[in-house]
Amino acid sequence: MVVGEFTESADVLVIGGGPGGYVAAIRAAQLGMSVTLVEREDIGGVCLNRGCIPSKALIATADQYYRLAGLKTRGIDVTQASLDFSRVQAHKEQVVKKLTSGVAGLLKGHNVSVIRGTARFVSRDTVRVVEEYESKKIQFKKCIVATGSRTKILPNLVPDGDRIVGSTEALQWDAPPGHLIVVGGGYIGLELGTVYRKFGSRVTVVEATPHLLPGVDPALVQVVQKRLKDLEVSVFLSTTVKTVERERDGLNIVLEGPKADALSLSADKMLVTVGRQPNTDDLGLDAAGIRVDDRGFIAVDTTMRTANPLIYAIGDVVGNPMLAHKASHEGQVAAEAIAGLPAAMDVVAIPAVIFTDPEIASVGLTEAQAKESGYDPVVGRFPFAANGRALTVDETTGFVQVISDKTTQRILGVHMVGPEASNLIAEGTLALEMGATVTDLALTVHAHPTLPEALLEAAEASLGHPIHILKR
Ligand code: FAD
Ligand code: NAD
Repeated sequence: MVVGEFTESADVLVIGGGPGGYVAAIRAAQLGMSVTLVEREDIGGVCLNRGCIPSKALIATADQYYRLAGLKTRGIDVTQASLDFSRVQAHKEQVVKKLTSGVAGLLKGHNVSVIRGTARFVSRDTVRVVEEYESKKIQFKKCIVATGSRTKILPNLVPDGDRIVGSTEALQWDAPPGHLIVVGGGYIGLELGTVYRKFGSRVTVVEATPHLLPGVDPALVQVVQKRLKDLEVSVFLSTTVKTVERERDGLNIVLEGPKADALSLSADKMLVTVGRQPNTDDLGLDAAGIRVDDRGFIAVDTTMRTANPLIYAIGDVVGNPMLAHKASHEGQVAAEAIAGLPAAMDVVAIPAVIFTDPEIASVGLTEAQAKESGYDPVVGRFPFAANGRALTVDETTGFVQVISDKTTQRILGVHMVGPEASNLIAEGTLALEMGATVTDLALTVHAHPTLPEALLEAAEASLGHPIHILKR
């Protein structure tokens, strides 16, 4: 018991101000509820401050810098280009600040009361919030838990904030490291590894499984792996770090794996990015009557409600995929369900984008998953090398693949690797959500010359009559 502590009340209390929490708070306020949001760090959560947005700002700048050399073939010679990394970082910070202050303004404009503090359940309907100089209790009618996730720590590679780091620190370096070892060839490892390679670092990726991006269609990954090779990124598969020693001016690392047994490397920095774990261990969930599974995730029903009918949970704390757009959608569902609207998390599919070079984007079933689910899948594929727009922008690597059911023609999945895949996937997602067939897609007139024409042609390939490639 804290002396002098008083109790406030809230219709809806949101814990966590990331893309799950702040979206839920705004939607709940739009629906007429009085909303309090508690955030212990910065509004915007991991995504806006230490994840999606800063990483994509660095990816975009690294890509523009890297492409300068290639402009020579088009008559532009910029061999004198120089890199001022402090300005690269300043630009990234500016983008983050613009977005986070925009979100703070939106919360204010919706009369959401924002408290900077750490919340912990003390009973089924009350949390204690510890602020910088005081603490108070908040009794809620409904609560939405959106506390997100943090980097998983490997016991033999504990971050020291300097030489061995997680993604937060790797987004803030004041200079590209000379040699960067990336442990984990997943989303973050490949996105940030590519960034630093393009800024001039030597990069080595160490991945424990036999594949980069495990779980992603190997045909898509193969294209990225080839580009990594062209970029001279060293990749060690089925390999782990056996030992690491901190030296005065760097790290001494010994790898263990089929192509790197006892291989010793020296490096300046090591980025450890082997997955994320939910922030549910220090929330007092027992007091609220909520249990977590063995990986720390909170179980919810289709309205995002937990075992305690007063409490909802959204975003990274409820499980994979740990993606910002999934968190935001769940936030809207929770807010609407609390308002008594007939909302449920019943989407056909959630798209996933990996901002590698080239980008990978996927929605729905792969060919293998479609077979496993009992479909007789038809695969229509179209290469960007045969797309006019791709040729004009000099980005012809990769392809679009549309998976459909042979009997009904219904589109089951869309997968691609190539230019602007992150943007192109929206059309595939809409097609899946609307229950479109490959004929629907093939009969939709697409503007020329554009990259989405590759989707149209992949649909035509499924129907056996692509125009711009020969039928095999
Ligand atoms: P978070 O964004 O993690 O927000 C949770 C918030 O809760 C945090 O601000 C935290 O401070 C606060 N909090 C925690 N505990 C408490 C407490 N007890 N009291 C008060 N506040 C608390 N996803 C994508 O979709 N696209 C991408 O391009 C992408 N890139 C990424 C790049 C990196 C480097 C990383 C690390 C992640 C990336 N992600 C990306 C994943 C994405 O950031 C997460 O899926 C998303 O942020 C989850 O949103 P959330 O609202 O569940 O939680
Ligand atoms: P990840 O799960 O994508 O990749 C982790 C990788 O580390 C895997 O390939 C795994 O096999 C490997 N690994 C595990 N233990 C290892 C070990 N001891 N040695 C070597 N390799 C090991 O995790 P992440 O890259 O940390 O990203 C976390 C999550 O954040 C992602 O799963 C995704 O949900 C989200 N994210 C999304 C985006 C995006 O949407 N573009 C970008 C970044 C992060």
